Amino acid sequence: MQKRIKILNQLCINQIAAGEVVERPLSVVKELVENSLDAGAEHIEITVEGNGTALIRVRDDGSGIAPEELQTAVLPHATSKISHIEDLDTLATLGFRGEALPSIASVSRMEIVSRTADSALGARLSIENSEVKNFEETGCPKGTTVTIRDLFYTTPARYKFLKSQGTEFGLISDMVSKLALTKPAVRFILKHAKHTVFMSPGDGSLRHVIASVMGSQIAQKLVPVSFCNEHYAVSGYLSMPDLTRNNGNYQVLMINGRIIRSKQLRQAVKNSFHTLIPHNTYPIVVLNIELSPSLYDVNVHPSKMEIKFKQENELMTFLTAQLNKAVLDGRKIERIDLHP
Ligand code: ADP
Ligand code: MG
Repeated sequence: MQKRIKILNQLCINQIAAGEVVERPLSVVKELVENSLDAGAEHIEITVEGNGTALIRVRDDGSGIAPEELQTAVLPHATSKISHIEDLDTLATLGFRGEALPSIASVSRMEIVSRTADSALGARLSIENSEVKNFEETGCPKGTTVTIRDLFYTTPARYKFLKSQGTEFGLISDMVSKLALTKPAVRFILKHAKHTVFMSPGDGSLRHVIASVMGSQIAQKLVPVSFCNEHYAVSGYLSMPDLTRNNGNYQVLMINGRIIRSKQLRQAVKNSFHTLIPHNTYPIVVLNIELSPSLYDVNVHPSKMEIKFKQENELMTFLTAQLNKAVLDGRKIERIDLHP
């Protein structure tokens, strides 16, 4: 027999939305760090315990949230980043959907402590199951600290699907490294079980971040690339054909500083090496493509990792040709270095 139609309650709505935004502990780290970056932080410290379900804490020195806005920040669709759909055409922030905090809050115990530069006192907000448990004024440094405990305790099915501590933390650490590559001027620190496991220098040098992520030997060997036309400006580092990996984990692709997954972009990178590298090997690349946000759509999936380009073929052709030129030029330079 068909049941009566009804509107779901807000907690249930949040938990369903959370299924898309908060797939695993890694997603929480990514969303919180992206908020810190959007807040203009220069230092971001991430602390994880176990596989991330016990504790994830992200502390930043960014703009902070005003005490009177703190309770609004955790409501569904609450954002300071856009006001109209047209704003997506000029979007300069990583977030815009106003979904991360309410989604995470519906599947964990969350605490936010925050203070803006122009306010003497900050505020602390504690939430469980989307419900405010405590809100008080407090002294604290400028910036925001978000602490997530007992992730997925309200959604046991999701909890059950998590992998071992090694796998979940490996994914987190991989993502933090990638996020560090997007912002060389920001100092990232990742701590796990009281140990610092990753630190980026935050001195503005992309090569230095690459060294902290992939090791200085690799960083030294990569060749800088930079090219543009009237629509696209591409910059980053590229390995030469003698330095490849047997998986694509060393390929970091960004669109306006946002880490994305794109088969097409990976294929363009692969094509640019033609037959210079063996089949099933991957060059190392860290590339950022700057283009007008009106030329792509980032609102394809709540995780914002997928992108639809408006002139995809044109971009791929341009990228392949220019990268290929960079590879051929880079090899020439290498030969000159070897035989002066
Ligand atoms: P979105 O990032 O899509 O706007 P979120 O749910 O992630 O949505 O965050 C809601 C709002 O809370 C943000 O728009 C921002 O104003 C504020 N906020 C969240 N995290 C921070 C932070 N670390 N520093 C400053 N403001 C923050
Ligand atoms: Mg956000």
